[in-house]
Amino acid sequence: MRTFSLASIALAATMALLLPIDSEAAMSKKQQKLYPPKDQLADVNSPQVKEWLKLINWSKVPKLAKTKAEIPNCPECPATKDIPKDACWWTCNGCVAKDDIEVCPQEKAWGLTYDDGPSEDTPRLLKKLKQANVTSTFFVVGSRVLEYPETLHQQIKDGHHIGLHTWSHAGMTSLTNEQIVAEIKWAEKIVFDVTGLKTKYWRPPYGDVDNRVREIARQLGYITVIWTKEWDSNDWQIPDKTITNKEVFRNFKWALSTVPKLKGGVITLEHDLFTQTVNVAGPLLDMGMKKGLEPMDIARCLSDPHPYQNSLVAKKPAPPPAKKPAPPPAKKPVPPAPAKPVEAPPKADSAPKEPKAKEPSEAADISKQSQRPSGAAQVAWSAGMALAFVAASAFFTL
Ligand SMILES: [Zn+2]
Repeated sequence: MRTFSLASIALAATMALLLPIDSEAAMSKKQQKLYPPKDQLADVNSPQVKEWLKLINWSKVPKLAKTKAEIPNCPECPATKDIPKDACWWTCNGCVAKDDIEVCPQEKAWGLTYDDGPSEDTPRLLKKLKQANVTSTFFVVGSRVLEYPETLHQQIKDGHHIGLHTWSHAGMTSLTNEQIVAEIKWAEKIVFDVTGLKTKYWRPPYGDVDNRVREIARQLGYITVIWTKEWDSNDWQIPDKTITNKEVFRNFKWALSTVPKLKGGVITLEHDLFTQTVNVAGPLLDMGMKKGLEPMDIARCLSDPHPYQNSLVAKKPAPPPAKKPAPPPAKKPVPPAPAKPVEAPPKADSAPKEPKAKEPSEAADISKQSQRPSGAAQVAWSAGMALAFVAASAFFTL
């Protein structure tokens, strides 16, 4: 058995003890009111956001202007000459910062990521991943977690890695500094309230990140994960009917044909928001594995033993899939600007789905959960820590 799996099991078992008592129920309307309205930018004058703003040393944040976009869409890219040289704006001129993650370092390593969920189709994907004995990173949208908290629990229980994809899926460079903080922190808060985990990795919607956005995210403890050029599955275009399943498979087949020439691994972009995108996820997984790629979550792709800001159990990195370690990914020269934003606009057909009518549970006020560990949760926390210790001890003595 892989040692990594043991650590994952220990983490999952520990987290099962830490989950809020009413965690399996959908959030009540009362609980939902503790968060900003779904799919909308939060009020930056709220006491909560004002507290979060104090976390930032603003003197270190580059004074770049907001880009122009019809919020929450991705900004239209201006002419390259009009992009400030110090912006390092990935979406519009492909600039990558030193600490951006766009590839997995090891050969044949496949950073498997799904964005924009959880959704009603996510459980179907989880079933497929379980059958394939694969873990992935889900970059979740806070507004979707509000609708499907029970699915987020299942993702954790299944050993998957969770990263953030903001509260409302707005193009980050078009927001004010205060809105950027609110978008990240509200998403972080709901994931923490539901799971007890404080996330550490995030993916900006549309990959829309520049040096202003990066610095704010960095100061909040986040590592920015984008994806490998040419490895966007473009599945997001299927619901828009601008691409067919067949074309998605053909494009992916072409990307797979480049694997022998790659110096490291890759990170793909897929989505678990729509039925159509989940429909192609299984076949894409099979295709990649058949070609010798080893799918894994981002924490494992980076051999990060602490995939959360408050990790309880250290995940031991899995042995590298390649016999010899590949050199660190070369920083590529800036590629030409893409003709259009690299990820789907969230509105129109690809707008986040409206929630299914669910009977809300009138269980305990989630604000109490967010103050964990306390009371009964303190017991769960202590039990979790004890189990973590035992699991870790057992793990390291194996
Ligand atoms: Zn997205």
